[in-house]
Amino acid sequence: MRKLLCITAHPDDEAGAFGGTLLLYHERGVQTSVICMTEGTAARNRGTAKTNEELAALRRAEFAQSCKVLGVSHGEVLSYLDSKLDRADLYQAVGDLVLRIRRIRPQVIVTFGPDGGLTGHLDHAMAGVFGTMAFEWAGRKDRYPEQLQDGLTPHQAQKLYYHASDFLLPDRPPISQPTITTRLEIGAERFEQKDHAFRQHTTQTPLFERVRKNLGDALGTMEMFHLAATKTPQQAKLETDLFEGVVDD
Ligand SMILES: [Zn+2]
Repeated sequence: MRKLLCITAHPDDEAGAFGGTLLLYHERGVQTSVICMTEGTAARNRGTAKTNEELAALRRAEFAQSCKVLGVSHGEVLSYLDSKLDRADLYQAVGDLVLRIRRIRPQVIVTFGPDGGLTGHLDHAMAGVFGTMAFEWAGRKDRYPEQLQDGLTPHQAQKLYYHASDFLLPDRPPISQPTITTRLEIGAERFEQKDHAFRQHTTQTPLFERVRKNLGDALGTMEMFHLAATKTPQQAKLETDLFEGVVDD
């Protein structure tokens, strides 16, 4: 069974940053999972929520709806503090992701690079940093050995990708993006479906038109990635498929 794991920072990243890719691979019979590090309670747009607890509950429900639209098999929201991922404990955060990687056992992992994706959001960057260390450490029996019981074993995924793009958004902090190695054509229908998934995040309604414009004008029906690491050493080359060269285990 082919499996793709996507590691994000906020409910709505799965749609805005990775929606077309998640849809595409779901349609190809790949089992897709999303682990989101925070409940997104630092959001400016809060819907009807009066407290952080209410907003967390709303955003968890919206995330579940979005995952349904995207055909995601397993979606999970962790409880790290929104907009404070750079202050989170690295050993604990990586350990939480290592545990999920050892359970889910994906061949391919996608996340943000240390630039923080198009918005340069620090939480995106940190989700990528934690995800990168988890990709490396999940396969090592000397890392988090206390997890290795009741049949759980180390798991080394085969490929790690960072979100990438060939343009910058105006009025954002300066970022230096990972180079593009992989372009996925998601098609016009999946673009609409991805937009539909984003619109499940109704607390974020004020962002809908801007996100659609940012994604649609510049990215269109393309999603881009940087192949950051591989289990089998290889020379960089341009790809059109995240599972290119993946060996069935
Ligand atoms: Zn985000």
